[in-house]
Amino acid sequence: MSADTAACPVPVLVIHGGAGTLTRGAMSTEQEARYRAALRNILQAGQLQLAAGASAVDVVVEAVRQLEECELFNAGKGAVYTAAGTHELDACVMDGRGCRAGAVAGVSRTRNPILAARAVMQQSAHLLFVGAAADDWAARHGIEQVDRAWFGTPHRLEQLHRAQQLQAGVLRDHDGQELVHGLQSSQASGPIDEQTKFGTVGAVALDAEGHLAAATSTGGMTNKQVGRVGDTPLVGAGTYANDATVAVSCTGTGELFMRACAAHDVSALVAYAGLSLAEACERVVMQKLPPDAGGLIAVSARGEVCLLFNSEGMYRGYVRCGDVEPLVAVYRSE
Ligand code: ASP
Repeated sequence: MSADTAACPVPVLVIHGGAGTLTRGAMSTEQEARYRAALRNILQAGQLQLAAGASAVDVVVEAVRQLEECELFNAGKGAVYTAAGTHELDACVMDGRGCRAGAVAGVSRTRNPILAARAVMQQSAHLLFVGAAADDWAARHGIEQVDRAWFGTPHRLEQLHRAQQLQAGVLRDHDGQELVHGLQSSQASGPIDEQTKFGTVGAVALDAEGHLAAATSTGGMTNKQVGRVGDTPLVGAGTYANDATVAVSCTGTGELFMRACAAHDVSALVAYAGLSLAEACERVVMQKLPPDAGGLIAVSARGEVCLLFNSEGMYRGYVRCGDVEPLVAVYRSE
């Protein structure tokens, strides 16, 4: 899914709700309708904000906050569990105007990690806070804290138990990183496999003043080792925005996106190699990242959008100001 409106960029919002192994027909019609409705509602709210002149930063933060509040996705409420049965959440926001960014990693009490990330960007001389200190910093700056149990859902707990059973049988004595890859390769055959469905959420936007922004939030990977941090909160890996080039938010196996510096690579290919947004995304997702790594959403300073993945599916959609309906999709073939 990609589109080009080079002549006169119209404000646009693009969102994702994670990529992974999603085969048509494997999800119940009701479940699929819930995902599509959630994406559509969030896009419509963002469209209204953009039409009213909201900044790209405000729009991506609000879209991600709403995705964090929605249990369907792996961020905020409904986030996946660590191997210890806890939650460690990561988030990042980047403003293309001046390339300012804020991020938190491994928070476990902050209700909306993306709000903490924005506060770090706007109120701190630092860029990234981690762990309990990040929760404390957020609390001191007025960001709502919740009981650790707040993030959990029975569905995610069951997912953890399934992942642990599988690993006990198939991947004994492997370290954390191999477990991550084991989860992918050993379960890729299922029609819709929760272990390979990355429900990380993200948003990128271009506003009426021509500014870009990107935001990403995640619970990480099911059964990840305590203390593991993925690509999401790392500028240039899972999240990047620069008014001169692009805004990018990634989803997939974080270790692969970190090694590829995936989000910044898209920007660099546009800036230094003169590639179009579609060409730059194609190079990174289809040529640089290994198969089944995941995907990304991106918007360029010219208003082009790209939603590209090398996994089976990705929850995704976009809407421009003036569109009658947002475009929402899940599977590869739509
Ligand atoms: N990229 C995230 C991580 O590795 C996971 C995801 O996209 O679902 O933490």
